[in-house]
Amino acid sequence: MRGREAQKYIVSKAVEVGERVRTTLGPLGYDKMMVDKMGEFQLTNDGASILKMGGDRDPVARIVAQAAKAQEARVFDGTTGTTITLAELLKLAMVLIEKGVQTNAVMNGYRHALGIAIETAKSNATEGDTPYEAAKKVAETAITGKSAEAYIEILSDICAKAAEAAKPDNIKLIGRPGNPKDAELVEGVVILKQNAYPTDKDTFKGKILLLDEELGPPQANVNLADPSKIAEVAKVQQQYMEERLSAIDEMGIATVLCQKGMDSRAIQHFRRKGILAVRNIRKSDMHRIAKATNGEVVADLADIMPEELGSGTCKIRGEDGPNPYIQAVGENVNVASIILPAPTEQTAAEFSRAMDDAIGVAYITAKNPLTVPGAGSIQARMAAAIRESEPMQSSRAELAKLAFADALMIIPRTLAETAAMDIIDTLFELSINPELGVDPLTESVRDMTHVVEPLELVVSCLNTATENAISLLRTDEIQKSRPIQETFADEMS
Ligand code: ADP
Ligand code: MG
Repeated sequence: MRGREAQKYIVSKAVEVGERVRTTLGPLGYDKMMVDKMGEFQLTNDGASILKMGGDRDPVARIVAQAAKAQEARVFDGTTGTTITLAELLKLAMVLIEKGVQTNAVMNGYRHALGIAIETAKSNATEGDTPYEAAKKVAETAITGKSAEAYIEILSDICAKAAEAAKPDNIKLIGRPGNPKDAELVEGVVILKQNAYPTDKDTFKGKILLLDEELGPPQANVNLADPSKIAEVAKVQQQYMEERLSAIDEMGIATVLCQKGMDSRAIQHFRRKGILAVRNIRKSDMHRIAKATNGEVVADLADIMPEELGSGTCKIRGEDGPNPYIQAVGENVNVASIILPAPTEQTAAEFSRAMDDAIGVAYITAKNPLTVPGAGSIQARMAAAIRESEPMQSSRAELAKLAFADALMIIPRTLAETAAMDIIDTLFELSINPELGVDPLTESVRDMTHVVEPLELVVSCLNTATENAISLLRTDEIQKSRPIQETFADEMS
């Protein structure tokens, strides 16, 4: 395909992808049920996951999905907004191109409008909030309208504290049956296991051995008819265990965390030495502890290097409560866990999705505590500033600049659509009063300053949508080619 035909194809495909995620936007956004060939399913309303799991192999669809993914990687949220803004920018560009405006003029107008939009977002940002305050506000917005809202106070507080404690990738949510009021942020890694023997000591500071090997004697095939053989085997086993255990003693280890089992001899030994011993730990937890304590999971005790040991403090906690656990805190990497009790499995899954989003936005807000009004208000303000700005020299670029302003309004427009509000009235009211926002819950245009978004999220969304729109518009030829070497980065993702 060439020229106009190629451009048209690209735009129509991007618009189709935008349509696919559109209805998930905002507090009344629908969920999508993603079902695989085997009938496994997952509910989601995250734009990036929908596009990724949708598995559309079309190259344009993949570029749009990558744009959403880039947004997610940078600011952890705003993927639906990015996708539909990108699609709308392309759609309105195509209208101009069909009228004879050159692609270059469109790009100039868009870039100019982008600059004004970003300046406007910055000048509308609230200053003076502490990182905690700003993070809590955006977390509240992320939780509003979801089932977790009943516990918004405690959950947004936890998100804001977590934001200061660790990066979102290093925060693990642990769902438990129970009352959400007991939700708790814990520094380090939480392992829902207990010490292998009862003890009064509760803090174990020092070296941590992370073992992916059964701590027991090797199995022997003994012929029971030969008693002397049995004694011999027992002796060999005893010796084998003694060697392993004395190797642990020599390394001066405070805690042994084992992915597999431990036999009673090993447990007795650890009890005598006052070493914390936890067995049958999940693989993923082992790796998180390794990361936090700067150690490595070793598969064979025989050739362990001292530098493979982790270091930090392990504590036995919550023994009186319903959820006893071991807490492992390293000295190197900041890692945190959130224990999130929920009444049912279904609510646990919903809470955990709400918290995932909230933790992400809280984190970027804590780093840069500037927030802007959400609910379509910031888009209405940016659009107004673009429309009121001085006309550009080129009348065609000017048309594109104004189209950019219209494209921004896809956000309030879609919010209104999810609530079946009158679109023309809503957009008209917002263009007259851009300080207001769309409230899908009460189906009205009103003051929505309690709904806030991180400035960085809005800026990143605009940059990602515009840059991708421009690079797609510059493409005027789609050709069949020989196989293209996938890059290393593609394979990794
Ligand atoms: P995204 O993937 O883009 O983050 P979301 O489904 O999270 O999509 O929707 C985000 C949009 O919804 C933002 O424009 C935000 O301002 C708006 N929004 C969030 N909460 C509310 C609310 N309670 N009322 C109105 N708009 C809201
Ligand atoms: Mg969101």
